[in-house]
Amino acid sequence: MNYVDEVLAKVQAKNASEPEFLQAVEEVLESIRPVVEANEEFYKKEAILERITEPDRQFKFRVAWVDDSGQVQVNTGYRVQFNNAIGPYKGGLRLHPSVYLGIIKFLGFEQIFKNALTGLPIGGGKGGSDFDPKGKSDREIMAFCQSFMTELSKYIGADIDVPAGDIGTGAREIGYMFGQYKRIKSQWEGVLTGKGLSFGGSLARTEATGYGLLYITEELLKSHGDDMKGKKCVVSGAGNVAIYAIQKAHQLGAKCVTCSDSTGWIYDPEGIDVALLQEIKEVKRARLTEYAEARPGAEYHDGRGVWAIPCDIALPCATQNELMIEDAKELVANGCKAVCEGANMPTTLEATKYLMDNGIWFIPGKAANAGGVATSALEMSQNSERLSWTFDEVDKMLNRIMVDIYHNIDDAGKRYGCEGNYVVGANIAGFEKVVDAMLAQGVC
Ligand code: NDP
Repeated sequence: MNYVDEVLAKVQAKNASEPEFLQAVEEVLESIRPVVEANEEFYKKEAILERITEPDRQFKFRVAWVDDSGQVQVNTGYRVQFNNAIGPYKGGLRLHPSVYLGIIKFLGFEQIFKNALTGLPIGGGKGGSDFDPKGKSDREIMAFCQSFMTELSKYIGADIDVPAGDIGTGAREIGYMFGQYKRIKSQWEGVLTGKGLSFGGSLARTEATGYGLLYITEELLKSHGDDMKGKKCVVSGAGNVAIYAIQKAHQLGAKCVTCSDSTGWIYDPEGIDVALLQEIKEVKRARLTEYAEARPGAEYHDGRGVWAIPCDIALPCATQNELMIEDAKELVANGCKAVCEGANMPTTLEATKYLMDNGIWFIPGKAANAGGVATSALEMSQNSERLSWTFDEVDKMLNRIMVDIYHNIDDAGKRYGCEGNYVVGANIAGFEKVVDAMLAQGVC
């Protein structure tokens, strides 16, 4: 058995109850096969694949808090510090009932390569809890966040591990967590990113993942002699990534006609009204039914369905495995040209293969949504130098980083005879950088 298959089998045996983690490892290891096979004996002797698929350490802890009725509630908190070869661990905190160790490990593993692709010195980590923020009062959210941070604070620090937002963790949650960290440590440090602007947050961080997604999509089109003008886009999600992806797409002259949440989706043939979507999701934290009620001509549908709407470009921005094989078939049949992932691993392996086999340009999340973490790293830099940069300065850097990522993954694919395969390109480019650092640092 060759080395890649040997390690895949070991990882599968060791993590059998974590399908999302196995899916992420399989995708990366399959992609880097040509790199490993070019120097198999060496990589095997160094046990590089075993080392890169085993987290440095992982924490699992109890989070007890009191709800508004006085009842004590108990959730589970996680932080996985996966790999810090190129910089402090960096990765978001997901608050969602579906969270368990396998989800956090998949996200932390992906984060290693994504962070490497940004060209900035940040390692890979991820955390979160099975806490569901939906329907909770502000006081309950604060109680949870304070209890969560009381334990998490033991393991993080500005030069150790710097968490950020993710699903369910926005500016409000980061604020409460930051306050608790400061209280425990009696110290102000840039230990979290995604902070409010009045206490060390970076301008453009809120917009960064969505904007970055569009910058890389635009560069992809440009390199194929096209641009975003007049393109029809379908978008899933109605959270942070989706909202700012839609906003930037519209600024670039495209039209996004859908968005979705966990209960249903909107089809708005006139183009999604971003201000209305922001009011419903960011201010009122309400359901999408309100969008259709407020906007004549828009339709609300229960369940899932955005991928059935004909489009030029599909931007999955909600959650993992939300674009499946049947959806991929529909996108291809309807003449879609490009799929760029705003969310982490939103496309199943089977759907990804089908899209690529049918000539669709496919940019995986670890490259396409790296703008969020890249801007988080810029927030860390601003905190370290005690300065704040303007929106325009950060946005320009973000744009340059995304353009560089596109060319970096494009070149890596070409070097290994896989031109146009951005999945292979992204995994190889990220892998090469991290492995180079790991090898230079000896056996650890
Ligand atoms: P938000 O919590 O702001 O929004 C998530 C959106 O997806 C919501 O509209 C939510 O619906 C919907 N959603 C969540 N779970 C499901 C589900 N199981 N089925 C259907 N819809 C669902 O999260 P973000 O926008 O921050 O994150 C979206 C994705 O992007 C995630 O994969 C995240 O890991 C990734 N990402 C985020 C970054 C960031 O900077 N925010 C950076 C890089 C990646 P509802 O409103 O009903 O909950």
